[in-house]
Amino acid sequence: MPTDILRLHRGDAPLLISIPHNGTELPEGIAARLAPEAHRVPDTDWHLDRLYAFASELGASMLVPRHSRYVIDLNRAEDDASLYPGQNTTGLCPAVRFDGEPVYLPGQAPGPDEVAERVETYWRPYHRALAEELERLHAAHGRVVLWEAHSIRGTLPFLFEGRLPDLNLGTAGGASCAPALQARLEAALAAQDGYDFVVNGRFKGGYITRHYGDPARGIDAVQLEISQRVYMDEDSFAWREDRAARLQPLLRRLLTTVLP
Ligand SMILES: [Zn+2]
Repeated sequence: MPTDILRLHRGDAPLLISIPHNGTELPEGIAARLAPEAHRVPDTDWHLDRLYAFASELGASMLVPRHSRYVIDLNRAEDDASLYPGQNTTGLCPAVRFDGEPVYLPGQAPGPDEVAERVETYWRPYHRALAEELERLHAAHGRVVLWEAHSIRGTLPFLFEGRLPDLNLGTAGGASCAPALQARLEAALAAQDGYDFVVNGRFKGGYITRHYGDPARGIDAVQLEISQRVYMDEDSFAWREDRAARLQPLLRRLLTTVLP
């Protein structure tokens, strides 16, 4: 297991939580070329490994990369096909940040050869580990749920209009998981009134959800995009224990809902 690239916690339940944008590290050779504001890695899905740490008690496996999405975006296709054609989005090796400003100093963005190298070094090991863990759990249980855990600043004019709902469930428009499983998750979301939510809104599920979801084979993939204001401070990036502690019981209910 390439522990210098990722951490994989193996559980026994048919549930794998993948957190592809949790990483914050920047290799030296890349950090030196970044625009000053990018050193704070502002587009990180902050603290999600901490937010979901309770899931090990449920027997979930968890996959977490070390490096920032500025090194490579693990939730994009290796050919960099756009996830949301016609809308502003960021690429496989992002050149622009979520605020629309450049990631790199002028002339320092990676060319095609360096992008291909990053695919080999960072992208493939993550996807190999993800595919192998899914297969292991599928072989043991005959089915498995892939939970794609994401979070994002709740207002980002470059990417979307207005304020994002607190919780954004994505199933690739219903293609990435069984309809009954989506219905159970929607019912669990509708049964609470602490958070507003949408299903298959602006964030319908990224590359991982769409690529690995295969409900006919017993692989159900769902993405939960959380607005960061509900568990952290969006400006300082600080963890907010009071907010997280309020959200975690609902996350636990959602994860329990997808388990047999
Ligand atoms: Zn994300």
